[in-house]
Amino acid sequence: MMMTANLGFPRMGIERELKKALEAYWKGDISQESLLETGRTLRVRHWQLQKTLGIEQIPSNDFSFYDHVLDTVLMTGAVPSRFLRSAERPGLDTYFRMARGDAEAAAMEMTKWFDTNYHYIVPEFEEGQIFRLQSEKVLREFEEAKESGILTRPVLLGPMTFLRLGKSRMLCSKWNLLDGLLCVYEEILSRLQKAGALWVQMDEPLLSLDMTAEEERQFRRGYSRLLSSPHPKVCLTAYFGDISEKLSWLTELPFDAVHLDLVRAPRQLDAALERIPEQMMLSLGIVNGRNVWKANLTDCLDKLLRAADRLGAERLMVAPSCSLLHCPVDLAQETALPAEIRRRMAFAVQKLQEIRILARAVREGHQAVEPILEENQRLFQSEKTSRLFYNPEVRNRMSQLTDSMFSRQSDFERRRRLQRQRLCLPLFPTTTIGSFPQTPDIRRMRADFRKGALPEAEYQSAMKRQIENVIRFQESIGLDVLVHGEPERNDMVEYFGEMLEGFAFTQNGWVQSYGSRCVKPPVIYGDVRRASPMTVHWIRYAQSLTDKPVKGMLTGPMTLLQWSFVREDQPRRDTAFQLALAVRDEAADLEAAGIRIIQIDEPGLCEGVPLRQSERAEYFDWAVKAFRLASCGVKDETQIHTHMCYADFNDRMGAIIAMDADVLSIEASRSDAVLLEVFERYRYPNEIGPGVYDIHSPRVPSVEEMEALLKEILRYLRAEQIWVNPDCGLKTRGWPETEASLKNMVQAAVRLRRSLGG
Ligand code: GLN
Ligand code: ZN
Repeated sequence: MMMTANLGFPRMGIERELKKALEAYWKGDISQESLLETGRTLRVRHWQLQKTLGIEQIPSNDFSFYDHVLDTVLMTGAVPSRFLRSAERPGLDTYFRMARGDAEAAAMEMTKWFDTNYHYIVPEFEEGQIFRLQSEKVLREFEEAKESGILTRPVLLGPMTFLRLGKSRMLCSKWNLLDGLLCVYEEILSRLQKAGALWVQMDEPLLSLDMTAEEERQFRRGYSRLLSSPHPKVCLTAYFGDISEKLSWLTELPFDAVHLDLVRAPRQLDAALERIPEQMMLSLGIVNGRNVWKANLTDCLDKLLRAADRLGAERLMVAPSCSLLHCPVDLAQETALPAEIRRRMAFAVQKLQEIRILARAVREGHQAVEPILEENQRLFQSEKTSRLFYNPEVRNRMSQLTDSMFSRQSDFERRRRLQRQRLCLPLFPTTTIGSFPQTPDIRRMRADFRKGALPEAEYQSAMKRQIENVIRFQESIGLDVLVHGEPERNDMVEYFGEMLEGFAFTQNGWVQSYGSRCVKPPVIYGDVRRASPMTVHWIRYAQSLTDKPVKGMLTGPMTLLQWSFVREDQPRRDTAFQLALAVRDEAADLEAAGIRIIQIDEPGLCEGVPLRQSERAEYFDWAVKAFRLASCGVKDETQIHTHMCYADFNDRMGAIIAMDADVLSIEASRSDAVLLEVFERYRYPNEIGPGVYDIHSPRVPSVEEMEALLKEILRYLRAEQIWVNPDCGLKTRGWPETEASLKNMVQAAVRLRRSLGG
């Protein structure tokens, strides 16, 4: 009969035990044995839990002390030589050294895992790279589960995705390394088989990307070879996108099962039912592994029955769309959420229950789970009418959007003239990205105020003192455009989310971001509405202290969207536009309060870019519209800034230009001239501040260094376009280096002005 499967369980533990143990170990507070014990306890607990929930294909090796890509680096012996110490055999400490670096060796790079907010460690391949089976973690964990009575399906990051994600400074192609790598995989597969594994899960999310003909060829070659030596049954797992156009050649390979992400790409089911050969099973990823909402069980069941009809239920597995790594652990922990919202939610545990229910419905027939299906159906119907989710006022506004709301009144040239007259800024105006150091003092006051331990009046005056200090400091060093420093903000999304209708916050909805770091994204459950001004009070106060312009700081709609769990009952675009209207209203209120410059941060915009080229134009179209809806409600003489960081600007310049912000600030100091060339090539039309120093390090850059960088920038951009600012906000920095760096930055701008006779 149809099997239930899971692709991966959240690693941290319900109390974030792993995070706590890791950080204690790194500090030297607990022994390695104690850390290993925490890992063991969590793994066994999670296997038992999944068994209790009725999952038949339970994953192992989904656990990781830091990251599964880094595990694969260690497994294949691809440890870069700078981390090897002569006296030791690479082990857990080598592993953490790769992730975090030490005095002798810089950490390996980290980047986003496909289009999720999880970050993996980027493998580095060296000239003449030799692979060998170095870590037996996958075997050990399989045995460990077996001892606790559970026969798991070990998860391996597939060799093709592993190679593709890695970087190499070699001249020849990475694919020359494939054969060496396959030897390691062959050895693992054969040893897993000997150990009694019936199945392995081979994750190849690279299939959801655009693949070159060469990559396809190597994929076929690689798996033909791998699958011709002894191995357990292999479930090829693709997630995060549509692989239908690759099925024609994938299904020629002797995989025992193929997993499809039917949440991201529901339409590929038909292609798969059409193509899948007799001996192959199909794993249907129909419960969303990346969000916090219940599945529509009736819809899911329709798909399952259609597939069962076609292939026979015994050839099917039912599973989450992807690993549940991207989802919080257990809704049972959430006691404070409004019941109406909570009823609609499902975390990892609840999602596995859904899998189980669906499997029962197929095995035993509808009747077996009828009450559950009916209740689920009622939820999805009532949503359409509930005032909690649908706000008539917001709906009405959304239906009355006009084209003119997406454009400024005049073109940039005219706006620029008016803004110049009004702001009287020098050549190379200096500014910062918004936040100033968030000292332990500030954090404590905010926390106390939240807990009710600090009275409102005292909190207000404490924050005002912070703002005043920051304003005075900026004046004293001669910055041209000031900020209030954002002391009242814990997080740039949470701060706004807490004041907007339609957002909810969980107590324990943590998901791993990287290593021991977890984030707790807000939940957008319903129509978004701004009940009252969110920032005006603080910005107006800051402006009252100085004659220099103070920038009002807002988080943009795409970033609010991207860094939250988003409702699924309407297109993301609609939610983005609702968010944009809220930001638009805030900008209008700031303007009315006399604020002359407003910055709408969009560091999240480029993070939402689809994996496939063919889907990007549509995304950029509505993403840019959302930004414009948020930013175009102000008068010509009000200057709109935006800020983005860590994006690859190359293929998105068109969209960035189309945002039509008067001033754009971007991260640039860590990249080389390549980034700047882009701005020349595309002739960036408006004003722009490529960051002149890296805020991720406490290092204080010298005046000369920043002046030199500005001169370099001048080769690519016109002097009248250039702003001078750091790469990003300063909230994670200390005051000493912030003071010194900003002073130097202002001096660099002053020198450059003089040298150009400005
Ligand atoms: N204004 C925000 C800050 O300065 C921007 C943060 C970001 O780009 N991530 O902190
Ligand atoms: Zn930034």
